[in-house]
Amino acid sequence: MIKLSLFKPTGHLTLGNHLGALRPMVAGQSEGRGFYGIADLHALTVPHDPATLRSLSVEMARLLISVGLDQSTLFVQSRVPAHSELSFLLESTVHTGELNRMIQFKEKGRDQPSTRASLYTYPALMAADILLYRPEQVPVGDDQRQHVELTRDLALRFNRLYGEVFTVPEIVTPPSGARVMDLQDPTTKMGKSHADGAGIVYLLDPPDVIRRKIARAVTDSEVGATAVRPDRDAKPGVTNLLDILVACGGSTDGITTYGALKAAVTDAVVAELEPIQKRYADLDDASVSAEFEAGAERCRHVTAPVLAAARTAMGLS
Ligand code: AMP
Repeated sequence: MIKLSLFKPTGHLTLGNHLGALRPMVAGQSEGRGFYGIADLHALTVPHDPATLRSLSVEMARLLISVGLDQSTLFVQSRVPAHSELSFLLESTVHTGELNRMIQFKEKGRDQPSTRASLYTYPALMAADILLYRPEQVPVGDDQRQHVELTRDLALRFNRLYGEVFTVPEIVTPPSGARVMDLQDPTTKMGKSHADGAGIVYLLDPPDVIRRKIARAVTDSEVGATAVRPDRDAKPGVTNLLDILVACGGSTDGITTYGALKAAVTDAVVAELEPIQKRYADLDDASVSAEFEAGAERCRHVTAPVLAAARTAMGLS
């Protein structure tokens, strides 16, 4: 089975990305063929700084290797030109009415004077990202579901209009990794939307920074009750810390105070990230480039027949 996932290099990877997505991907590498990419073209859909994009892409490339995804095919999206080429062909099958209905565009772009056209047509690129690899299933979280439904519609339409080129992927619920909440705002996901990062543990945070962020984590102000127990509604902060502790292989046995809980979480997170950070520090640029160049070459090889079939079907020579 083909597995495919792309990460947008618009921020540093977090403990949430690791426990929720990367670690399960690493664990599942032995079953099926994995293609894991850095979606640098997607990062161009919003105002961006070229130097930041470059450095975040390099950091992400090194991290994907450091977490252990190097048993799979790793690539940078823009190094596989078939993605942008098929995207244009799919833009020529999608209707503006469909793009107008995309919730993400409505939320992020519509009515903003600076909206880039690529934000509007982004679902065609995402459809190309998927259809080029002919996966039978696409695991997708709620935020991307509408885009994958559109991908299916476009594949069906293309096949009907021009001939059977694309595999129409089934949408499946991803295997649930841990859901990590922001340490300062434990009712929302730890992620890029939190601007200042005080509640986010990044994969490359040094141990003392991790210690400080966890020490300052919001616990709960239940009056007179400082019990360490999971309760997602009444004690979201404590529950999140307990979840992180367990996800990082720690034990909750015998922990009765918030201080002890935070110390245990810190130790567990530091221990979880230490091998990743060590590998990251030991990697040299040449081997990262070689790994990604070999990955892009494999992707160019795998996607070439699909793109060629689409071109021919549409009447391009
Ligand atoms: P994003 O960084 O939002 O583009 O997400 C990339 C991947 O990491 C997706 O599979 C997300 O579901 C996963 N992910 C991101 N943040 C978290 C989090 N706080 N907890 C669990 N999984 C997460």
